[in-house]
Amino acid sequence: MAGLNGGQPIAVAIGECHCVGTPHPDGDIVYLAPKASLRLGLAANAAIGQAKDVIQLQELLGIAFVRYGVTGWNVVDEHGKPVDVNNETVEARLTWDAGGRVVADRAADLYTDAIISPLVPPPPSSPPPGPTASSPSPIPPYSPPPPISLTPSSPGNSEPST
Ligand SMILES: [Zn+2]
Repeated sequence: MAGLNGGQPIAVAIGECHCVGTPHPDGDIVYLAPKASLRLGLAANAAIGQAKDVIQLQELLGIAFVRYGVTGWNVVDEHGKPVDVNNETVEARLTWDAGGRVVADRAADLYTDAIISPLVPPPPSSPPPGPTASSPSPIPPYSPPPPISLTPSSPGNSEPST
C-alpha cells in the first residue's frame, strides 16, 4: 500500500471493532498517510485562512487532517465488504470517543509541522552573504600610512653642535 512517494501508511489502532458482526477481534485500524499530501496541505492552509479564532482553527485543521490524512481502514460493512473512506463515512465511523480523538491526535502529530513550519521564518543557519570577491569594491584597499617618526627633539639626545 505504499504511495508514490509517501512511504508506508501509519496504522492507528482505534479501539474495539464497530463493524457489523465485529469481525475484528483485535480492534479497528485506521491508516494515515505518513506525510501531508497536497490536498491536505491545501485544505489546512484554507483552514488557517478561514479560521476566526484559535478554537475554529483547531476544528478546521483537525477536520482537514483527518479527512485527507486517512487513506484507509479495516472497516467493513454488513456484507463484509470494505467501507469506502470518504467524508461521510469518516465522520460517521470516527466519532470522538470511537477513534476520532486518537486519529485526530496522531494526524496532528504527523502533519502539523509540515503545515505550520512554512509560516515561521527559518532560523538563521548561515550568515548573510557578504560582497563577493568578483564584485567591484568602491573602497580602495586599505594601505597603511607611512610610519611617522615619533622621536622627540629633546635637547638631551641632540648632538652637540659645537
Ligand atoms: Zn471492525
